[in-house]
Amino acid sequence: MLVGLTTLDGELLASEKYILGGRVSPDDVLDDLDAALNRLLARVGRFRGDITALGFCTTGVMDVDAGLIYMNHNMGWAEVRLRELAMVRLGLPIVIEMDANAAALGEHWRGAAHGLEHFVYVIVGTGIGAGILLGRRIWRGARGAAGEVGHTVVLPGGPLCGCGKHGCLEALASGLAIQRKATAALKLGRATILESLEGDISAQAVADAARGGDSVARQIMDEAGYYLGLGLSNLVTLLDPQALVLGGGLGWGAFDVLEAPMRRAFDEHLNYWADRKMLLTRAALGEYAGLYGAARAALDLAPGHLQQEVRR
Ligand SMILES: [Zn+2]
Repeated sequence: MLVGLTTLDGELLASEKYILGGRVSPDDVLDDLDAALNRLLARVGRFRGDITALGFCTTGVMDVDAGLIYMNHNMGWAEVRLRELAMVRLGLPIVIEMDANAAALGEHWRGAAHGLEHFVYVIVGTGIGAGILLGRRIWRGARGAAGEVGHTVVLPGGPLCGCGKHGCLEALASGLAIQRKATAALKLGRATILESLEGDISAQAVADAARGGDSVARQIMDEAGYYLGLGLSNLVTLLDPQALVLGGGLGWGAFDVLEAPMRRAFDEHLNYWADRKMLLTRAALGEYAGLYGAARAALDLAPGHLQQEVRR
C-alpha cells in the first residue's frame, strides 16, 4: 500500500509504503490507512481537519460513482461498500478509482501526459490494462469495464489467458507471460544466464538478462515487446491518441528493452506511423502515478460527495 498526502495543487507532501501482509479485510485496510494518515499528518505538522477527501485506487471491478468495489481478486474482496465504510471508520469522504485510470489521471495531472487531450496509459506488469483519457475525461464504457486492452486477442489460438480465452495480449506480453516463457526455455535446456538464478524467475530478471546481452532473454523480451506493439497499434488505430504512456513494473522498469520491438510492430501495423508523431514514452511518476491520480480523482469528485453526505 502506498499512502500519500498532497496539496490541492498536487504537490506531494509526504508518503509511505507498507506491506498489507495478511491484513486485507476492508476493516483492516481502513484501520491501517487511518494509522498511516496520522503518521503522515504528524510528519508534516498538519491535522485531520486539513484533509478534504481521500482517493483510493486499486485493481478490480468497481462502481466508481457508488464507491462500491464488486470484486478485487488480490484482496479477496466482494461487494465492498468502501465509501460508506470509510465514512464510518475514518470520517472522511472517499473516492475510488481503478488502478489504470488513476495512474492515467496522475500522469495527466503531474506527469508525462500533462496538458494532453487524448492519451492512453498502459500498465504492463503481472497483467496488462489501460486507462484511456479522451477529451481529458476517463473513458469508462457502458459498464465501467473499458480499457481491458490486455484481453484483446492478438494471436488466435495462442497461449491460454487467465480470463479463459486464448491468445490475449496479456497471455503474450505480461510479466506472467515472460516468466512462463523463461521457465519453458530453461526446461528445454537452452543456454542462458537465467539458469544461474535461484527460485522463480521474475520478468524483471529476464529484462536484466536481456540488457546484459543474453540471447534467450532477448528473444523473450523481443517477442513480448512485439506483441505489446501489435496490441497497442490496434488501440492507436481505433483511438488516435496523442501519446501512449507506459507504466507498471515492466512498462516502466523495462521500457528501454521493450521500446525497440514495440516500434518495429508499430512500423508494421500502423498506417502512416511516421506521420502520426504519436508520443511513446515511459510514465514520469513511476509507481506514484496511481497515488497522484487517486488524489486528483478525490479532488474532482469530493464536492459532490460532500453534498450527498450532508443531504443524508
Ligand atoms: Zn484474457
